[in-house]
Amino acid sequence: MPVKSAVVRREVINSVLTYSKAAHPREGILLLRGSSKKGVLHIDSVAIPPMATHGQSFSSFNWYMVPMDLSFVGVAHSHPSGYAVPSQQDMLHMMGRVMMIAGFPYEDSSCVKIYNSRGDPVSYAIDDSPQQS
Ligand SMILES: [Zn+2]
Repeated sequence: MPVKSAVVRREVINSVLTYSKAAHPREGILLLRGSSKKGVLHIDSVAIPPMATHGQSFSSFNWYMVPMDLSFVGVAHSHPSGYAVPSQQDMLHMMGRVMMIAGFPYEDSSCVKIYNSRGDPVSYAIDDSPQQS
């Protein structure tokens, strides 16, 4: 079943925006971790992919280096062009359940879009509650 809706922790949005800004004008790539609860995908944290170097584009990244454990739900990457829709190459290299794309200028959550494995937009809510430990 393709993901239809998601809940994203505020820290995840902030991390993706910060990381995208740091990588600009090149692409930044982050792994997304979370879990599925009652059909809704919860994205709880990000991880920096091992061996990531800024400037490797999403489609040329060496995914064999990435540990794919059960908490892996997808990948976030930035579009320095500002156009936050998946390219044909992005869809060919889709991994996990969702793809998050941050479009320049990476100002706030309106620059962050989520797509499912079909390339359809996924609507999401932002979870502002404090992190549980
Ligand atoms: Zn892309």
